[in-house]
Amino acid sequence: MTRPIGLIDTHCHIHDIGFFDNPNQVYEQSLNNGILGMICVGTDAKSSAESQKFAAVREHAWCSVGLHPHEAKNWQVELPVIESLVNLDRVVAVGEIGLDYYYLNSSRQAQLKAFKVQLRLACANNLPVILHIRSSKTSPTDAFEDAFKLIDEFAGVRGVVHSFSGGVQLMRDIVGRGLAVGINGIVTFCRDDLVYEMVANIPLDRLLLETDAPYLTPEPFRGTINMPEHVRLVAEYVAKLRREAPIAEIVHASTNNAKQLFGI
Ligand SMILES: [Zn+2]
Repeated sequence: MTRPIGLIDTHCHIHDIGFFDNPNQVYEQSLNNGILGMICVGTDAKSSAESQKFAAVREHAWCSVGLHPHEAKNWQVELPVIESLVNLDRVVAVGEIGLDYYYLNSSRQAQLKAFKVQLRLACANNLPVILHIRSSKTSPTDAFEDAFKLIDEFAGVRGVVHSFSGGVQLMRDIVGRGLAVGINGIVTFCRDDLVYEMVANIPLDRLLLETDAPYLTPEPFRGTINMPEHVRLVAEYVAKLRREAPIAEIVHASTNNAKQLFGI
């Protein structure tokens, strides 16, 4: 294995009990393979509390707390808990929050409610947001349109649209709002020229690399459980798509952007 490289995995779920027998081993292995750090992302009250506990005792882990749009239907119970976590040690963002019209595990109405409350929470605490936005099967932009409307109601929202795999125009709408674009293993297996074109055009100061581990394992490890160290493969692929940019340039940009956005 090539020895890298100073990357931060800006989005993973390795703390989630049940995915890994030994999350600490995954953490240690990532550091041994050259990962500088990782952000463990919460998806509901329970996993947010776990992400905070995990990061609080590890020098190279930070965390976010938030209610994922899939779980938005439980906002009345979940959001007060998330609000109680937001000021704890090592919490560097509110997320993942947003809208998912693809699966609609929660109603649009519940998703919009939870999203708005958490945008307000982030702004009130001067924290960036980690956004999960996925449109419906019939429209490539419907969730983004609704999300932008809400985001535009809050001046000064900072953050990242994680796991982005849309086209150039949507990417420009994101960047135009001052938000960053989170790219993960999807680019290594999507075989979609529109995504390739988008990745090639992300302004360097808006690029963040992530794994979403244990999900979305990049090539050539499809079929295995994803780990933060695989963010290196995402960096290599992104470099290739950007006209063979030097990998150091991509790494440097993502790491600097992550440090700046999350204050780590
Ligand atoms: Zn995620």
